[in-house]
Amino acid sequence: MVLDSPGTPLREAELPAPVAGPGQVVVAVDACGVCRTDLHVVDGELPGPKLPLVPGHQVIGRVVEAGARFGAGERVGVPWLGWTCGECRYCLSGRENLCDRARFTGYQLDGGYAELAAADERFCFPVPDGYNDVQAAPLLCAGLIGYRSLRLAGDAERLGLYGFGASAHIVAQVARHEGRRVFAFTRAGDGEAQAFARELGAEWAGDALAPAPEELDAAIIFAPAGELVPAALAAVANGGSVVCAGIHMSDIPSFPYELLWGERVLRSVANLTRRDAEEFMALAPRVPVRTEVEAFPLAEANEALARLRSGEVRGAVVLRVRAAA
Ligand SMILES: [Zn+2]
Ligand SMILES: [Zn+2]
Repeated sequence: MVLDSPGTPLREAELPAPVAGPGQVVVAVDACGVCRTDLHVVDGELPGPKLPLVPGHQVIGRVVEAGARFGAGERVGVPWLGWTCGECRYCLSGRENLCDRARFTGYQLDGGYAELAAADERFCFPVPDGYNDVQAAPLLCAGLIGYRSLRLAGDAERLGLYGFGASAHIVAQVARHEGRRVFAFTRAGDGEAQAFARELGAEWAGDALAPAPEELDAAIIFAPAGELVPAALAAVANGGSVVCAGIHMSDIPSFPYELLWGERVLRSVANLTRRDAEEFMALAPRVPVRTEVEAFPLAEANEALARLRSGEVRGAVVLRVRAAA
């Protein structure tokens, strides 16, 4: 499924089979998660995508053209971080997620809305057993970015999650596993999302712009809505952190300095490192994280994107590329 130009529907196309370049493997895609970032790419909210582009950066597949690290038949995940320079200040200090020359799967590199994908095998990783392909796909970005966001939230006991979608439904499980208390903030009156959050261990779920039931120690904002930033700052205690997990957000309204005062911290999370992936893929089966998924066939990628855009999804949206995935 190909994006020819932002703002237009994806087009079903027959493309030449990708060939593995140096350091790459080719994988037969079994499933590919649909991320909010895909919506931002397709809608033109992120500048300069490769065009035409095969979107998708939560790729689960089996290696069909082996490399040095992964042999034929091995199941691998291909994440958002597709390539880094390896020599800049960021890459040399454990912060490859910030590399200015980084290239991202399904954005500057063709991704997983396809039957075959080529990927730099240094950035692929093994997928834990115990997850089928469709269930595993949301771990790759919703899970990974959520995990990195949770780490950056520090040791907060009372954790607010703003926007209860694919990432939050995974983070809530990890946070509960770590003994934290989870508070879920959704759109006003979204009773289904609030009930879902309670099922996953949130002790409270309610409207994002209404007052929190008690002070929070940290908040993670997954919804791309800038007005949540002052709301979350108002909800955290002195010294608390507000972590913005999305790659794109509407403008943040101006707010009184008082909301930041008291050593509150406001920060974003950008991308992921390979170390995040290793840590989270080891942790997920131990929690164990269970992903809730709505699956669509590859040819219905536009419908899958529309479904995600609707905000009514319970958990994550995934494209089932191989019929038995
Ligand atoms: Zn670099
Ligand atoms: Zn993503």
